[in-house]
Amino acid sequence: MPAEKNSAFDVIVVGSGASGGWAAKRIGEAGLKVAIVEAGRPQSDSNFTEHKPAFELKYRNRAKEIVRKTRPIQSVFDVCNEYTQDWFINDFDEPYTTPADKPFNWMGRLRMTGGRTNVWGRVSLRFSDDDFKAASHDGYGEDWPLSYSDIAPYYDLVEKYVGVTGMSEGLEHLPDGQFQPPMPLTCQESVFRERVKEKLGRTVTLARSANLTRPINGRGPCHYCGPCDRGCVTHSYFNAAFTTVPDALNTGKCTLISNAMVHQVLMDPATNRARGLLYVDRVTRQSHELSARVVILCAQSQESVRILLNSATREYPKGLANSSGVLGHYLTAHVRSGGGSGDFPTAGRKHTLGAPVKPVGIYVARFRNLKGQPPYKRFLRGFGYEGESSMDFNFRAAGFGAAYKKAVLEPRASLDVTGFGEVLPRWDNFVEIDPQVKDIFGIPVLKIHMSDGENERAMIQDMGDSAGEMLEAAGAKNIRTYAHPSAPRWALHEAGIARMGEDAKKSVLNQFQQTHDVKNLFVMDASGFTSNPCQNPTLTIMALCVRSCDYLLGELKRSPSLA
Ligand SMILES: Cc1cc2nc3c(=O)[nH]c(=O)nc-3n(C[C@H](O)[C@H](O)[C@H](O)COP(=O)(O)OP(=O)(O)OC[C@H]3O[C@@H](n4cnc5c(N)ncnc54)[C@H](O)[C@@H]3O)c2cc1C
Ligand code: SF4
Repeated sequence: MPAEKNSAFDVIVVGSGASGGWAAKRIGEAGLKVAIVEAGRPQSDSNFTEHKPAFELKYRNRAKEIVRKTRPIQSVFDVCNEYTQDWFINDFDEPYTTPADKPFNWMGRLRMTGGRTNVWGRVSLRFSDDDFKAASHDGYGEDWPLSYSDIAPYYDLVEKYVGVTGMSEGLEHLPDGQFQPPMPLTCQESVFRERVKEKLGRTVTLARSANLTRPINGRGPCHYCGPCDRGCVTHSYFNAAFTTVPDALNTGKCTLISNAMVHQVLMDPATNRARGLLYVDRVTRQSHELSARVVILCAQSQESVRILLNSATREYPKGLANSSGVLGHYLTAHVRSGGGSGDFPTAGRKHTLGAPVKPVGIYVARFRNLKGQPPYKRFLRGFGYEGESSMDFNFRAAGFGAAYKKAVLEPRASLDVTGFGEVLPRWDNFVEIDPQVKDIFGIPVLKIHMSDGENERAMIQDMGDSAGEMLEAAGAKNIRTYAHPSAPRWALHEAGIARMGEDAKKSVLNQFQQTHDVKNLFVMDASGFTSNPCQNPTLTIMALCVRSCDYLLGELKRSPSLA
């Protein structure tokens, strides 16, 4: 069926998640006509279930196998559950492939306004020049084409709007930000923080997190109900669906086109400019064309690069904007299969049902291979830990009868830490189009090739060992550590497959996430990361996106056709 043509926009933004929401807001607020083209359904407060008890659900949120029937990959991570499964793709309708010996779980494939920010863990950390200039420090890979001072004002801007609870620590490699007052630490967390600093010199801090402790922009402070990954009617965590996207729509300049699965960027070969895009309506399966002066892809790394690879033309036979041949290569995603846990019997207090739940844990700042330290012999770069503490009834108590009843009521205070490690960008971790397989919309799917190298394996081992060392230092009992190989590989922080760089022969994007090849085409999600430091990526995705939008707006003022 021929595609229907729709009216022209100044800018089209593909995706409405962390990056797309910001791009649409920034451009709409500048007075340009912008369309958000989003594969998912509209999101609204009526879909949020953070206060709904499990007993009100048909299967009490206990029948994982029912969720697995349609979402065997999405439900590997428990944010895809009976409450939220409809927010995620059906894995059979929208597959991807991998080589048999490199399994990879591509999770977090949401199809709702807000994308992954509906369910994300909200940990919001800055990168530093230890990250942007890591190649100069240790000789591996490439430096980013920008420095901390270029992005710092945008971190400020984004943090003030998003609302990040955090503690300032004065660390050069984990810069402080514009924090809202910190949520308090639990007893175990405080003990862990103090003793790990005292005995090992490592910094344990509140996980800097996009949860409000003060109201902003009509959003209320967190009331500690717990399950942020099921939505939040008081809008107390950051989700693009109830922050940046409504701001963009409120400008009166922005149109949200939902259920619109982008297939290709369309080119005008005579001018070497993108002229718009082709999408498939997920409900009617009808194809549509949209035209615009500028196209910005913000569909999440693999999805944006899939669109570029599917947009190959005679001029760009290996994928659009891929004259370098680098597009799709250098896939990175954190390793997180090492860590440990322990009990803190003296930190216990009487547990109660329905107690407040703090939705934010702790973060252990990176401590390996920092500037000024001798290089750590076993691997390059480093890792941080996210940690959680819990207080529960002692359901594992031994015995029976009255003694058992008494023992069950004894509080059980524990703390666990999970390493999040940097993965070195390697050419042979890559994505390509699988010519044999299409999704139910007829769009060719990705084949993902990803495995760990020596560096990652050594790092995972250290994550387990160092977790044990810190728990020991903190006086934990029943310490359990682990360091598993990370296959089947799973990831929520994928980056790097349309990397930024100064040299157009070795990179796809410049420092403003503009493709070197096509001047009115931008990719503003994590695809552009030149490396993937151990800190969680989303704060940097958002700050970079705003910076790139400001560049774009400046360029459009200078030359409306981006000549
Ligand atoms: C469970 C979980 C926990 C996480 N925890 C953290 C954390 O603690 N800290 C952190 O920094 N990061 C975290 N992340 C990662 C974070 O959510 C992502 O880095 C961030 O949302 C990526 O932003 P994005 O704009 O690239 O993509 P998204 O936010 O996913 O938005 C992409 C949007 O594009 C749409 N789209 C995709 N393909 C198409 C297409 N072809 N056509 C049209 N639209 C399309 C999608 O439907 C989606 O709405 C977590 C992710 C998950 C899933
Ligand atoms: S814990 Fe706080 S942020 Fe999370 S859903 Fe409850 S009120 Fe919202």
